[in-house]
Amino acid sequence: MLIRILLSLALSLAAFAETKNLILVTADGLRWQELFTGMDPLLANEKSAGTEGKTALREKFWRDTPEQRRAALMPFFWTTLAPRAVVHEDVRVTNGFRVSYPGYSEILTGRAQDGVIQGNDHIQNPTETLLEFLRRKLKLSRQEVAMFGSWDTFRWIVEKTPGSVTINTGYMNSAETSRIAELSRVQRDILSPWDAVRYDYFAFEMAMDYLTKVKPRVLYIAFGETDDWAHNRRYDRVLESTAYFDRSLERLFKTLNSMPNYRNNTAVVITSDHGRGSKLEDWSSHGSKVEGADRIWAVISGPDQNRAGPIKTQSGIAPAILRMMGLSPEEFLRTRP
Ligand SMILES: [Zn+2]
Repeated sequence: MLIRILLSLALSLAAFAETKNLILVTADGLRWQELFTGMDPLLANEKSAGTEGKTALREKFWRDTPEQRRAALMPFFWTTLAPRAVVHEDVRVTNGFRVSYPGYSEILTGRAQDGVIQGNDHIQNPTETLLEFLRRKLKLSRQEVAMFGSWDTFRWIVEKTPGSVTINTGYMNSAETSRIAELSRVQRDILSPWDAVRYDYFAFEMAMDYLTKVKPRVLYIAFGETDDWAHNRRYDRVLESTAYFDRSLERLFKTLNSMPNYRNNTAVVITSDHGRGSKLEDWSSHGSKVEGADRIWAVISGPDQNRAGPIKTQSGIAPAILRMMGLSPEEFLRTRP
Protein backbone atom coordinates (compact mmCIF):
# COMPACT_ATOMS: atom_id res chain seq x y z
CA MET A 1 0.00 0.00 0.00
CA LEU A 2 2.71 2.43 1.02
CA ILE A 3 4.59 1.61 -2.15
CA ARG A 4 1.48 2.29 -4.23
CA ILE A 5 0.92 5.64 -2.55
CA LEU A 6 4.54 6.57 -3.06
CA LEU A 7 4.38 5.45 -6.67
CA SER A 8 1.30 7.50 -7.47
CA LEU A 9 2.81 10.45 -5.66
CA ALA A 10 5.96 10.14 -7.73
CA LEU A 11 3.92 9.86 -10.93
CA SER A 12 1.79 12.89 -10.16
CA LEU A 13 4.89 14.81 -9.21
CA ALA A 14 6.52 14.00 -12.51
CA ALA A 15 3.30 14.68 -14.41
CA PHE A 16 3.06 18.32 -13.50
CA ALA A 17 6.69 19.16 -14.06
CA GLU A 18 6.92 20.74 -17.48
CA THR A 19 10.65 21.22 -17.21
CA LYS A 20 12.50 18.97 -19.63
CA ASN A 21 15.80 20.79 -19.96
CA LEU A 22 18.20 22.50 -17.63
CA ILE A 23 20.59 25.32 -18.43
CA LEU A 24 22.83 26.17 -15.47
CA VAL A 25 24.88 29.35 -15.73
CA THR A 26 27.47 30.64 -13.27
CA ALA A 27 29.53 33.84 -13.14
CA ASP A 28 32.62 33.29 -11.01
CA GLY A 29 32.75 35.57 -7.97
CA LEU A 30 30.28 38.08 -9.41
CA ARG A 31 29.40 40.08 -6.30
CA TRP A 32 25.82 40.78 -5.24
CA GLN A 33 26.92 44.39 -4.95
CA GLU A 34 27.37 44.75 -8.72
CA LEU A 35 24.38 42.59 -9.61
CA PHE A 36 21.93 44.40 -7.34
CA THR A 37 23.38 47.91 -7.19
CA GLY A 38 25.58 48.25 -10.29
CA MET A 39 28.82 50.22 -10.24
CA ASP A 40 29.98 50.45 -6.63
CA PRO A 41 30.51 54.08 -5.46
CA LEU A 42 33.43 52.91 -3.33
CA LEU A 43 35.17 51.10 -6.18
CA ALA A 44 34.45 53.87 -8.64
CA ASN A 45 37.57 55.37 -7.02
CA GLU A 46 39.75 52.37 -7.83
CA LYS A 47 42.63 53.43 -10.01
CA SER A 48 41.48 51.11 -12.79
CA ALA A 49 38.08 52.81 -12.84
CA GLY A 50 39.73 56.13 -13.61
CA THR A 51 39.92 58.55 -10.70
CA GLU A 52 39.88 61.82 -12.58
CA GLY A 53 36.57 63.33 -13.53
CA LYS A 54 34.27 61.78 -16.06
CA THR A 55 35.68 58.69 -17.68
CA ALA A 56 34.24 56.58 -20.45
CA LEU A 57 33.63 53.89 -17.85
CA ARG A 58 31.64 56.21 -15.61
CA GLU A 59 29.69 57.49 -18.53
CA LYS A 60 28.73 53.96 -19.36
CA PHE A 61 27.92 52.63 -15.90
CA TRP A 62 27.58 55.46 -13.36
CA ARG A 63 24.06 56.69 -12.54
CA ASP A 64 22.58 58.47 -9.53
CA THR A 65 20.65 55.60 -7.94
CA PRO A 66 21.48 51.90 -7.39
CA GLU A 67 18.41 50.91 -9.46
CA GLN A 68 19.62 53.01 -12.39
CA ARG A 69 23.17 51.77 -12.01
CA ARG A 70 22.25 48.08 -12.07
CA ALA A 71 20.05 48.62 -15.11
CA ALA A 72 22.93 50.39 -16.84
CA LEU A 73 25.27 47.50 -16.05
CA MET A 74 22.88 44.62 -16.73
CA PRO A 75 20.00 45.94 -18.83
CA PHE A 76 18.68 42.55 -19.95
CA PHE A 77 18.80 41.10 -16.47
CA TRP A 78 16.95 43.98 -14.81
CA THR A 79 14.44 44.97 -17.45
CA THR A 80 13.56 41.61 -19.00
CA LEU A 81 14.66 38.65 -16.89
CA ALA A 82 14.25 39.70 -13.25
CA PRO A 83 10.59 40.80 -13.55
CA ARG A 84 9.68 37.28 -14.76
CA ALA A 85 12.10 35.12 -12.79
CA VAL A 86 12.56 34.35 -9.10
CA VAL A 87 15.53 36.30 -7.80
CA HIS A 88 17.12 35.23 -4.51
CA GLU A 89 19.13 38.14 -3.18
CA ASP A 90 20.76 36.58 -0.16
CA VAL A 91 22.01 33.02 -0.54
CA ARG A 92 24.78 31.76 1.73
CA VAL A 93 27.71 29.54 0.93
CA THR A 94 27.88 26.81 3.59
CA ASN A 95 31.35 25.43 2.84
CA GLY A 96 34.01 26.99 5.00
CA PHE A 97 36.40 27.96 2.21
CA ARG A 98 34.54 30.45 -0.01
CA VAL A 99 36.74 29.73 -2.98
CA SER A 100 35.77 28.33 -6.35
CA TYR A 101 36.04 24.52 -6.29
CA PRO A 102 34.21 24.14 -2.95
CA GLY A 103 31.54 26.58 -4.22
CA TYR A 104 30.93 24.90 -7.56
CA SER A 105 30.97 21.54 -5.88
CA GLU A 106 28.39 22.75 -3.36
CA ILE A 107 26.17 23.88 -6.25
CA LEU A 108 26.64 20.61 -8.15
CA THR A 109 26.42 18.11 -5.30
CA GLY A 110 23.98 19.91 -3.00
CA ARG A 111 26.36 19.76 -0.06
CA ALA A 112 29.59 21.09 1.36
CA GLN A 113 32.38 18.50 1.45
CA ASP A 114 34.75 20.35 3.73
CA GLY A 115 36.64 17.20 4.70
CA VAL A 116 37.72 16.52 1.12
CA ILE A 117 37.40 19.67 -0.98
CA GLN A 118 39.39 22.34 0.78
CA GLY A 119 40.56 24.50 -2.07
CA ASN A 120 41.15 24.47 -5.80
CA ASP A 121 43.35 21.37 -5.93
CA HIS A 122 42.88 19.15 -8.96
CA ILE A 123 41.03 16.29 -7.35
CA GLN A 124 38.18 14.37 -8.93
CA ASN A 125 34.88 15.24 -7.28
CA PRO A 126 34.21 12.37 -4.87
CA THR A 127 30.41 12.65 -5.19
CA GLU A 128 28.06 12.11 -8.11
CA THR A 129 27.19 15.56 -9.44
CA LEU A 130 23.86 16.98 -10.50
CA LEU A 131 24.94 16.62 -14.14
CA GLU A 132 25.71 12.93 -13.67
CA PHE A 133 22.55 12.35 -11.64
CA LEU A 134 20.40 13.97 -14.35
CA ARG A 135 22.10 11.90 -17.01
CA ARG A 136 21.39 8.72 -15.04
CA LYS A 137 17.79 9.54 -14.03
CA LEU A 138 16.73 10.93 -17.43
CA LYS A 139 18.65 8.19 -19.28
CA LEU A 140 20.61 10.67 -21.35
CA SER A 141 23.65 10.12 -23.52
CA ARG A 142 26.98 11.76 -22.78
CA GLN A 143 26.31 14.22 -25.63
CA GLU A 144 23.06 15.32 -24.01
CA VAL A 145 24.80 16.53 -20.84
CA ALA A 146 27.46 19.14 -21.54
CA MET A 147 29.59 21.69 -19.75
CA PHE A 148 31.46 24.64 -21.29
CA GLY A 149 33.60 26.80 -19.07
CA SER A 150 36.51 29.20 -18.93
CA TRP A 151 38.35 27.77 -15.92
CA ASP A 152 40.40 24.64 -16.38
CA THR A 153 39.63 23.09 -12.97
CA PHE A 154 36.02 22.34 -13.95
CA ARG A 155 37.26 19.18 -15.61
CA TRP A 156 37.65 17.71 -12.11
CA ILE A 157 34.65 19.41 -10.49
CA VAL A 158 31.72 18.50 -12.69
CA GLU A 159 31.95 14.73 -12.62
CA LYS A 160 32.78 11.93 -10.24
CA THR A 161 33.26 9.42 -13.02
CA PRO A 162 35.63 10.79 -15.67
CA GLY A 163 34.03 10.74 -19.09
CA SER A 164 30.41 10.78 -18.00
CA VAL A 165 29.75 14.33 -19.19
CA THR A 166 30.82 16.28 -22.29
CA ILE A 167 33.33 18.85 -21.01
CA ASN A 168 35.15 21.68 -22.72
CA THR A 169 36.82 24.06 -20.26
CA GLY A 170 40.10 25.90 -19.82
CA TYR A 171 41.97 25.67 -23.10
CA MET A 172 40.58 22.26 -24.01
CA ASN A 173 40.10 21.37 -27.65
CA SER A 174 37.15 19.61 -29.11
CA ALA A 175 35.35 19.33 -32.40
CA GLU A 176 31.71 18.53 -31.76
CA THR A 177 30.89 21.16 -34.40
CA SER A 178 33.06 22.93 -36.95
CA ARG A 179 32.63 26.20 -35.04
CA ILE A 180 33.85 24.57 -31.81
CA ALA A 181 36.86 23.16 -33.66
CA GLU A 182 37.62 26.63 -35.04
CA LEU A 183 37.26 28.29 -31.61
CA SER A 184 39.50 25.58 -30.12
CA ARG A 185 42.23 26.68 -32.51
CA VAL A 186 41.68 30.42 -32.22
CA GLN A 187 41.70 30.47 -28.40
CA ARG A 188 45.41 29.59 -28.48
CA ASP A 189 46.14 32.66 -30.60
CA ILE A 190 44.17 34.97 -28.30
CA LEU A 191 45.50 34.07 -24.88
CA SER A 192 44.02 35.64 -21.76
CA PRO A 193 46.29 36.99 -18.99
CA TRP A 194 45.67 33.83 -16.94
CA ASP A 195 47.20 30.38 -17.28
CA ALA A 196 44.12 28.35 -16.38
CA VAL A 197 41.29 30.60 -17.55
CA ARG A 198 40.46 31.44 -21.16
CA TYR A 199 38.33 34.37 -22.22
CA ASP A 200 34.62 33.85 -21.57
CA TYR A 201 33.93 34.55 -25.23
CA PHE A 202 35.32 31.13 -26.17
CA ALA A 203 33.34 29.17 -23.60
CA PHE A 204 30.12 30.98 -24.37
CA GLU A 205 30.43 30.81 -28.16
CA MET A 206 31.19 27.09 -27.96
CA ALA A 207 28.25 26.53 -25.63
CA MET A 208 25.86 28.42 -27.89
CA ASP A 209 26.95 26.50 -30.96
CA TYR A 210 26.61 23.24 -29.06
CA LEU A 211 23.16 24.29 -27.86
CA THR A 212 21.82 25.02 -31.33
CA LYS A 213 23.47 22.10 -33.14
CA VAL A 214 23.56 19.23 -30.63
CA LYS A 215 20.55 20.31 -28.50
CA PRO A 216 21.62 18.93 -25.10
CA ARG A 217 19.02 18.36 -22.37
CA VAL A 218 21.41 19.58 -19.68
CA LEU A 219 23.90 22.35 -20.33
CA TYR A 220 26.17 24.09 -17.86
CA ILE A 221 27.92 27.31 -18.93
CA ALA A 222 30.54 28.71 -16.53
CA PHE A 223 31.84 32.25 -16.96
CA GLY A 224 35.15 33.06 -15.28
CA GLU A 225 36.41 36.55 -16.10
CA THR A 226 34.34 38.32 -13.43
CA ASP A 227 36.60 36.67 -10.83
CA ASP A 228 39.96 36.98 -12.53
CA TRP A 229 39.68 40.67 -13.38
CA ALA A 230 38.71 41.29 -9.76
CA HIS A 231 41.80 39.46 -8.50
CA ASN A 232 43.80 41.72 -10.82
CA ARG A 233 42.00 44.74 -9.27
CA ARG A 234 40.76 45.76 -12.69
CA TYR A 235 37.38 47.15 -11.68
CA ASP A 236 36.89 48.52 -15.18
CA ARG A 237 37.18 45.01 -16.60
CA VAL A 238 34.99 43.56 -13.85
CA LEU A 239 32.24 45.88 -15.04
CA GLU A 240 32.90 45.19 -18.71
CA SER A 241 32.86 41.42 -18.18
CA THR A 242 29.66 41.72 -16.13
CA ALA A 243 28.07 43.65 -18.99
CA TYR A 244 29.25 40.93 -21.38
CA PHE A 245 27.70 38.36 -19.08
CA ASP A 246 24.39 40.24 -19.33
CA ARG A 247 24.57 40.37 -23.13
CA SER A 248 25.30 36.65 -23.13
CA LEU A 249 22.25 35.95 -20.99
CA GLU A 250 20.13 37.92 -23.42
CA ARG A 251 21.42 35.88 -26.34
CA LEU A 252 20.93 32.66 -24.43
CA PHE A 253 17.28 33.44 -23.62
CA LYS A 254 16.55 34.65 -27.16
CA THR A 255 18.04 31.47 -28.56
CA LEU A 256 16.08 29.24 -26.16
CA ASN A 257 12.85 31.04 -27.03
CA SER A 258 13.50 30.59 -30.74
CA MET A 259 13.90 26.79 -30.48
CA PRO A 260 10.85 24.50 -30.08
CA ASN A 261 13.04 22.03 -28.14
CA TYR A 262 13.58 24.59 -25.40
CA ARG A 263 10.76 27.12 -25.46
CA ASN A 264 8.49 26.83 -22.39
CA ASN A 265 10.11 23.67 -21.05
CA THR A 266 13.54 24.79 -19.93
CA ALA A 267 14.74 25.81 -16.49
CA VAL A 268 17.52 28.38 -16.48
CA VAL A 269 19.36 28.74 -13.18
CA ILE A 270 21.98 31.44 -12.70
CA THR A 271 24.25 31.74 -9.68
CA SER A 272 27.81 32.13 -8.43
CA ASP A 273 30.46 30.16 -6.56
CA HIS A 274 31.37 32.72 -3.89
CA GLY A 275 31.13 36.39 -2.97
CA ARG A 276 33.99 38.75 -2.21
CA GLY A 277 34.89 41.51 0.19
CA SER A 278 33.04 44.81 0.28
CA LYS A 279 35.88 47.14 1.28
CA LEU A 280 38.54 48.84 -0.76
CA GLU A 281 41.11 46.48 0.80
CA ASP A 282 39.31 43.22 0.13
CA TRP A 283 36.77 43.59 -2.70
CA SER A 284 39.22 41.92 -5.07
CA SER A 285 39.58 38.90 -2.82
CA HIS A 286 37.57 36.12 -1.20
CA GLY A 287 38.13 33.12 1.06
CA SER A 288 37.33 31.99 4.59
CA LYS A 289 38.77 35.12 6.17
CA VAL A 290 37.10 37.66 3.90
CA GLU A 291 33.93 39.07 5.42
CA GLY A 292 30.98 38.77 3.04
CA ALA A 293 32.58 36.19 0.75
CA ASP A 294 29.88 33.74 1.83
CA ARG A 295 27.09 35.78 0.30
CA ILE A 296 25.95 34.89 -3.20
CA TRP A 297 22.68 35.12 -5.14
CA ALA A 298 20.61 32.84 -7.34
CA VAL A 299 18.09 33.30 -10.12
CA ILE A 300 15.54 30.69 -11.10
CA SER A 301 13.57 30.88 -14.30
CA GLY A 302 11.34 28.44 -16.15
CA PRO A 303 7.84 26.98 -16.31
CA ASP A 304 8.21 25.37 -12.88
CA GLN A 305 10.07 28.23 -11.20
CA ASN A 306 7.43 28.51 -8.50
CA ARG A 307 7.99 24.88 -7.49
CA ALA A 308 11.69 25.42 -6.85
CA GLY A 309 11.01 26.62 -3.31
CA PRO A 310 13.10 28.94 -1.19
CA ILE A 311 16.87 28.97 -1.65
CA LYS A 312 18.74 30.05 1.46
CA THR A 313 22.03 28.30 0.84
CA GLN A 314 24.29 27.34 -2.03
CA SER A 315 23.65 23.68 -1.25
CA GLY A 316 19.93 24.37 -1.69
CA ILE A 317 20.34 25.14 -5.40
CA ALA A 318 20.56 21.55 -6.68
CA PRO A 319 17.47 20.44 -4.69
CA ALA A 320 15.55 23.41 -6.12
CA ILE A 321 16.55 22.36 -9.63
CA LEU A 322 15.45 18.78 -8.99
CA ARG A 323 12.06 19.92 -7.65
CA MET A 324 11.50 21.87 -10.87
CA MET A 325 12.39 18.80 -12.91
CA GLY A 326 10.04 16.52 -10.96
CA LEU A 327 12.93 14.53 -9.49
CA SER A 328 13.65 13.69 -5.88
CA PRO A 329 16.18 15.87 -4.04
CA GLU A 330 16.18 13.29 -1.23
CA GLU A 331 17.36 10.57 -3.60
CA PHE A 332 20.08 12.85 -4.94
CA LEU A 333 21.29 13.79 -1.48
CA ARG A 334 21.38 10.14 -0.38
CA THR A 335 24.22 9.45 -2.84
CA ARG A 336 27.44 9.06 -0.90
CA PRO A 337 31.04 9.28 -2.08
ZN1 LIG B 1 38.73 33.80 -7.20
